[in-house]
Amino acid sequence: MALIIQKYGGTSVGTPERIKNVARRVASWQARGHRVVVVVSAMSGETNRLIALAKEVQAQPDPRELDVIAATGEQVTIGLLSMALMDIGVKARSYTGGQVKVLTDSAFTKARIVSIDEGNIRRDLETGHVVVVAGFQGVDEAGRITTLGRGGSDTSAVAIAAALKADECQIYTDVDGVYTTDPRIVPEARRLETVTFEEMLEMASLGSKVLQIRSVEFAGKYKVKLRVLSSLEELGQEGPGTLITFEEDIKMMEQPIISGIAFNRDEAKLTVLGVPDRPGIAYQILGPVAEANIDVDMIIQNVGHDGSTDFSFTVPRGEYAKATALLDQVKGHIGARQIAGDNRIAKVSVVGVGMRSHVGIASKMFRTLAEEGINIQMISTSEIKISVVIDEKYLELAVRVLHKAFELDQVPA
Ligand code: ASP
Ligand code: MG
Repeated sequence: MALIIQKYGGTSVGTPERIKNVARRVASWQARGHRVVVVVSAMSGETNRLIALAKEVQAQPDPRELDVIAATGEQVTIGLLSMALMDIGVKARSYTGGQVKVLTDSAFTKARIVSIDEGNIRRDLETGHVVVVAGFQGVDEAGRITTLGRGGSDTSAVAIAAALKADECQIYTDVDGVYTTDPRIVPEARRLETVTFEEMLEMASLGSKVLQIRSVEFAGKYKVKLRVLSSLEELGQEGPGTLITFEEDIKMMEQPIISGIAFNRDEAKLTVLGVPDRPGIAYQILGPVAEANIDVDMIIQNVGHDGSTDFSFTVPRGEYAKATALLDQVKGHIGARQIAGDNRIAKVSVVGVGMRSHVGIASKMFRTLAEEGINIQMISTSEIKISVVIDEKYLELAVRVLHKAFELDQVPA
């Protein structure tokens, strides 16, 4: 008998019929002797609707009141799911974040969880209840309702799993696992049986949207075993999904060198041309960007020539105009020749913990792109990933040829 946390996202609870399906799935786990805590999102589209509603009344919604409104989406789902469970003879009880209680800091709309009181949940589990908890929300010290940021129900589920020391945290979604890459681009993409936390973190931050990044960080930190599964598969015919776990738990034989190809269209590149090659320049360029709260991702500086150099970096595409305006301001005072930019770029990355112990991954990646005539504009690496920036129009081609070159379409021996 195991203690299992199951999280169902917006699509999985998007209609009354789907909520009834979730109830049947939960019941089947309980019938097999497991204790189950269910964490749910709002019905799909509901959080967007609530936020839009708030903005119709106040253009810049007051953060405290916005959370009061946004948190209601999940409150509806916990009630509905509990009723659906009772309707098929399962004892169920719902809890809002505040009722649990999930204590957070007071950063409305992006609160962080401070602690979780497991008392209520444990008591109900003891008496054979399925406990249904609203994701995405908590309360601060003063009892004010807070939310955890968009996609925050994943984090709620992982935090509850950590607090209860659950055997597994299952994230049910509309895909049946984590794939080697987006199957919409590469039909041969395969579901991964297992992936390590580190790889999952890289993939999430590189644009794979299966899990909220914070929930993966949290799970890694608190050693919560995470499994991504589909809620849309027929009961009794469910696949095993993808288990996200620790490197030492994955048998070496099964571990391919590269686990996936991630990509991201959401960046733009800025280049400061002809800056004096002297100490402090990087700081003078990036300082104002950081102060404006713009996230900088890749950075490169060329070797200097005749006392000057070029400096490039990438920012989220939505911040491109703002960053360009900032650079135009600093240009004169640092003595740069010109600011250039490009927001039609894409980042493609190969990810795999096997890179640590194998050489030649980068050269294989670069050769593969060269053979297709794809120019690499920027490169960055970490221990387990290599990313390149290329022209956006070659993105799909790049992902396809890399997927093939690294044999990700083939089941590892
Ligand atoms: N309902 C919230 C959102 O749409 C939280 C979640 O779904 O995880 O962002
Ligand atoms: Mg979600």
